[in-house]
Amino acid sequence: MNIILLGYPGSGKGTLAKDLSKALDMVHVSTGDVLRDEMAKKTALGLEASSYMAGGRLVPDRLVMDMIKARLGAETRGLLFDGFPRTVAQAESLDDWFTSRSQDLDAVVFLNVAESVVMARLGSRRTCTGCGKIYNVISSAPAKEGVCDACGKPLMTREDDKTGVIAKRIQVYKDQTEPLLAYYRSSRNFLETDGGKAPEAVTKDVLSLLRVKP
Ligand code: AMP
Repeated sequence: MNIILLGYPGSGKGTLAKDLSKALDMVHVSTGDVLRDEMAKKTALGLEASSYMAGGRLVPDRLVMDMIKARLGAETRGLLFDGFPRTVAQAESLDDWFTSRSQDLDAVVFLNVAESVVMARLGSRRTCTGCGKIYNVISSAPAKEGVCDACGKPLMTREDDKTGVIAKRIQVYKDQTEPLLAYYRSSRNFLETDGGKAPEAVTKDVLSLLRVKP
């Protein structure tokens, strides 16, 4: 099974992807995480991507597609994409790539969340520097302030979760990613769910939409 998660930055794709990939034994592919990893390792791709990411803009399609193909070319398990595709050009390239592998896209899951809610969520999001677990200092704070419950490493605010960049990322989503809803909505495997609920409820809803028992 291959699945795409769609929705605003801050709509809960990352948290849902972590739960679903465990429940369905799929490979969680977060292009944002892969790009941050490339940046941390100071690879050529990481260096090229960093200025786009810091400013809240999208990394060029060509770089993202090359990265996906290089990382996943030999993967045989189901793919769960989080944060990809983000443009219609990426969606078209993904369709071509699946066709070349005699595979298909089984479901597109759209997490529907109001813009005001994602703005608030992004401003209070903290991410673990060790395991990547996502917290919200208002609605799902860790037991000890600034420390990950799961692995004990410090939490941080992502550069692009800082106030000035959030509005830019929302605008980029509207301009470049929202057209994907029309691209996928007419297909029979387009699923929509209320992403404003608590994370456990969203996971339960999506598993039942996918007809898998939680
Ligand atoms: P995310 O962690 O998904 O919020 O992504 C963080 C940043 O990484 C985005 O704001 C973009 O700069 C970049 N990025 C992640 N995925 C993509 C993609 N599919 N296409 C272009 N840029 C991306």
